[in-house]
Amino acid sequence: MNKIEHLQKTITEILGKEIAQATNEEIYDALLVMVQKMAAEKEHTESKKKLYYISAEFLIGKLLSNNMINLDIYKEVKEILEENGKNLAEIEEVEPEPSLGNGGLGRLAACFLDSIATLGLSGDGIGLNYHLGLFKQEFDNHLQKEVPNPWIKEKSWLKKTDVTYPVSFNGFDVQARMYDIEVTGYHNQTNRLHLFDLDSVDESMVQDGIQFNKEDIMKNLTLFLYPDDADESGRLLRIYQQYFMVSSGAQLILDECVAKGCNLYDLPDYAVIQINDTHPTMVIPELIRLLVERGMDMDAAIDVVSRTCAYTNHTILAEALEKWPVSYLKKVVPQLVPIIEVLDDKVRRRFDDESVAIIDRYDTVHMAHIDIHYGFSVNGVAALHTEILKNSELHNFYQIYPEKFNNKTNGITFRRWLLHCNPMLADYIETLIGNGFKKDAAELSRLLDYRENDQVLQNLLEIKHKNKEALCAYLQETQGLSISPDTIFDIQVKRLHEYKRQQLNALYIIDKYLEIKKGNVPAAPVTAIFGAKAAPAYTIAKDIIHLILCLQEIINNDPEANKYLKVVMVENYNVTKAEKLIPACDISEQISLASKEASGTGNMKFMLNGAVTLGTEDGANVEIHEAVGDDNIFVFGASSDQVIEHYAKGDYVARTYYENNPSIRAAIDFITSDAMLKVGQKENLDRLKNELINKDWFMTLLDFDSYKETKERALAAYADRKEWAMKMLVNIARAGFFSSDRTIEEYNRDIWHLK
Ligand SMILES: *Cc1c(COP(=O)(O)O)cnc(C)c1O
Repeated sequence: MNKIEHLQKTITEILGKEIAQATNEEIYDALLVMVQKMAAEKEHTESKKKLYYISAEFLIGKLLSNNMINLDIYKEVKEILEENGKNLAEIEEVEPEPSLGNGGLGRLAACFLDSIATLGLSGDGIGLNYHLGLFKQEFDNHLQKEVPNPWIKEKSWLKKTDVTYPVSFNGFDVQARMYDIEVTGYHNQTNRLHLFDLDSVDESMVQDGIQFNKEDIMKNLTLFLYPDDADESGRLLRIYQQYFMVSSGAQLILDECVAKGCNLYDLPDYAVIQINDTHPTMVIPELIRLLVERGMDMDAAIDVVSRTCAYTNHTILAEALEKWPVSYLKKVVPQLVPIIEVLDDKVRRRFDDESVAIIDRYDTVHMAHIDIHYGFSVNGVAALHTEILKNSELHNFYQIYPEKFNNKTNGITFRRWLLHCNPMLADYIETLIGNGFKKDAAELSRLLDYRENDQVLQNLLEIKHKNKEALCAYLQETQGLSISPDTIFDIQVKRLHEYKRQQLNALYIIDKYLEIKKGNVPAAPVTAIFGAKAAPAYTIAKDIIHLILCLQEIINNDPEANKYLKVVMVENYNVTKAEKLIPACDISEQISLASKEASGTGNMKFMLNGAVTLGTEDGANVEIHEAVGDDNIFVFGASSDQVIEHYAKGDYVARTYYENNPSIRAAIDFITSDAMLKVGQKENLDRLKNELINKDWFMTLLDFDSYKETKERALAAYADRKEWAMKMLVNIARAGFFSSDRTIEEYNRDIWHLK
């Protein structure tokens, strides 16, 4: 029996009927069962030393198609379905997207799991099984509304295991249960994502959007990722979640190492723990506690743990570097407090410098400081970011431990972000340079040989146009939006945050709209596409969403303007939507305030799919710029040094720009114009306008002129189709460096030392 016949037989057996007779839901369930079985039959990568990647988020996306690609059955299954009158794309729609992450940090963890398995390294993920995930975003009256996002169905990728661990909180104990998701490597072995959960969690306690009793830990512990921390009970719940994750994880790690013959003093020979941002920091004191409990003395335990743990820093935004009052820790995990005090005491004995202390004078614990003192590696996620950590944000630590600091520029898995999301482009690349690039992304550079080849350039443009058509159909179907593939698709999709400056893009759109109304119509029509969730408690971010939705309403319905300009706000931006948007993009908006975006990975996905970046010299944009050269990217705005200086001097005053720059003034005034107030909420729009004029903490107005001028150049450049296609080709060809396979090889070479 050949492969196709065998697969067909298996699917039919699981279905218990002919494929042609089954519904899409039944076929999806059958494929899930088959793929899960095939993945489980693959050997797990085992070696003496194993990596544990601990993260509060794993934004893994839908798994069916990616697993089929990795197991090398995708094309065959697609063919079988087609022969039976079924469509794989429609079956993919049946799968709910696991809602286990928020943004780039969680997506990075997911890309890393794919690359670790693909490279055949022994490494598992450890996280939490949030039943309702991050909230799901709905638009209601041009406002973001948060509703639960239940994603766990009867048949899911989660496998319930018999593994349980006791976890003690102040005054009560719980049993953590482990669920596993198989992580398939591309044409290789598999690893696992371990997600801990509590059997007693009760989804029915959630009411009225995403409200629930935050104090009933037995029922609420793993309901949501990032429960609202606006009040104390919400903050305590986050500590409960974090401790639950790391205590279960630490017990799993020790069990696995002991089973392999580890005597615990040699733990660093058996395990390396990568701490993804500060959320899992308590794994350090927890491991120390467990080792002491098993008979090790405290100093030895601290030494062993310090040689096992490594920390990845993801941000220089002060608000995101977690700090917990000692009093909170005493309320939730009193057993850790004496250990953290010892850790602090040791630091204070060595360094007479308050800025590197663990517990500050206000009795607040700086989680990142634990990671830096008691981990053996501290890495940033792009070259510029790591330099900023060393030279300013974490300078005092860098002076103490220069050897710990290293850079690991982020990457993305090309299996999902090219092979899966853009099969037309992937197949075409294969006809040009063979299929070696699927495992060795650097081979993409061979595309440069076709730089002057008119036929190749023409084909790239055609593929892009087809992807744009597909996006148009999708947006029409899902949101009733009608847009044209013959306009320039200018896309900004990412979490909503002032530092990412969606508001700058929005001000540009207003400026453009006002110009059109004055009769200055643009040479080429543009569709400005956004997608972003705002944190539920982040008022200004939600106001910015409101602004964009109001602009969508006004501009798209204005017959004078909508020939030249349309605005689209995609609802509930997630991995599934990203996979549809990114292949269709012409201009990739990466406009964060320089110095504030640690790396970005969206920028890499767009580049790989032939979009041209319009961005500031921030995060990995800097490395993208170096890779493609000045001619194939549009950069603008103040440099990170200039921005850091403005903050140091405190000399940026938004109001001066508002008062002195007529375009800025007109755009900002439009926010509260009659036209806007007719469709929007006065309270939100007033607040946003006021914020931009009187605070503008992320210096939107500083870069307005430069953004506008550069964007006009980018839009004009689009008109020369051949020149533009060359830019597309160079972006794709130079994207190899941004494969997460490269990133993971570097982590392994410099930090993990597996195999
Ligand atoms: C890649 C990705 C991100 C990160 O995007 P940035 O532009 O790097 O912030 C966020 N959300 C989703 C769904 C993604 O796929």
